[in-house]
Amino acid sequence: MRLTKEEALRLYREAPLEELCDRAQAGRYQHVPGRRVSYQIDRNVNYTNVCLSGCKFCNFHCRPDEPEKAYTLAFEDYLPKIAEMKALGGDQLLLQGGLHPKYDINWYETLFRRLKEAEPSLRLNALGPPEIAHIARISRLSYHDVLVRLRAAGLDTLPGAGAEILCDRVRKFLSPAKPTAQQWLDVMGEAHRLGMSTTATMVYGHIETLEERIDHLLALRALQDARPSAKDVIPGSDPESVPGFRAFICWPMQLAGTELERLAAEDRLPAGITLPGEPAWKAEPARRWPADEEFLRTVAIARLVLDNVDHIQASWLTVGLETGLRALEAGADDMGSIMIEENVVSAAGSHNLLSDGERTLRAAITSAGFEPWLRDQEYRPR
Ligand code: SF4
Repeated sequence: MRLTKEEALRLYREAPLEELCDRAQAGRYQHVPGRRVSYQIDRNVNYTNVCLSGCKFCNFHCRPDEPEKAYTLAFEDYLPKIAEMKALGGDQLLLQGGLHPKYDINWYETLFRRLKEAEPSLRLNALGPPEIAHIARISRLSYHDVLVRLRAAGLDTLPGAGAEILCDRVRKFLSPAKPTAQQWLDVMGEAHRLGMSTTATMVYGHIETLEERIDHLLALRALQDARPSAKDVIPGSDPESVPGFRAFICWPMQLAGTELERLAAEDRLPAGITLPGEPAWKAEPARRWPADEEFLRTVAIARLVLDNVDHIQASWLTVGLETGLRALEAGADDMGSIMIEENVVSAAGSHNLLSDGERTLRAAITSAGFEPWLRDQEYRPR
């Protein structure tokens, strides 16, 4: 039986942590049998920091009128990054940037084509629904046409970036220029109709309520239910081969030095907007949880609500390796990437990159009692 919203909220708020994790772990073994835990080697490349969105939690971006801070990578900058990533055993670039006022479909097509010409084996896991919606707007194209053209140029998979919390009350305050919750879902729905493999994310622990977190998970579950069958998108293919959301990843928002943190410190948050620890949040039992328990409960409830998504990642980059490993007993089956480079959450206070990457991660997974295996973005063994 599927969890209803009320059941999910009750479990999230009230179930003892151990019981919640045990239930989630049973769900994990239905999707991913055995003690195998996957991981990936890829490289995050931030192609530009110019962004119109102005998210209040983002220290990474700058406005177009800040020339001393703004950058866009030259094509030549990618080549040593790709070579280093390949030398470390990686196969993929996670390309993330911002909502650039001038970069339209032609700019991205040119970049993707040149990258694939330079390194044909390279996989591109690039952009996210906000960028696709933005490119569609400035290029006067539909989401469908943007995705079709970018795929033809070399886009392999679409990350679930920019979801934060899929609730416009939250988004209007945190990221007023970012696409709405429905636009995020519409882009993903279009990608799924094209047979693309995507991921879903949730960034929690800011101004959202627990109910809004559960609503977020339920919106993802409904969209995953609506994904087409393989015969509708890939004639003659295996019915299991249209994954929709291949995986779900959640992490706590990093607030250090952000505008959101400043507004709260100066008591300038508008009425109805509260951060954890403030009066309205004190009514929420979640505030009694230490950060690692909140992460584990969130991973576990995601595994239970998202009964149609195969893989749940333990996002150790923000919570640290120790808590990430504990999530393997709370429904997670994947440790994500060793992440050779990361610039966005680290700009807001998270510094958990591994010094010797793959060896450390494999040893950590083994020491937690699981068997590590290296995967690609489609969760195939490499
Ligand atoms: S989080 Fe992304 S969309 Fe928001 S300001 Fe930063 S770069 Fe732009």
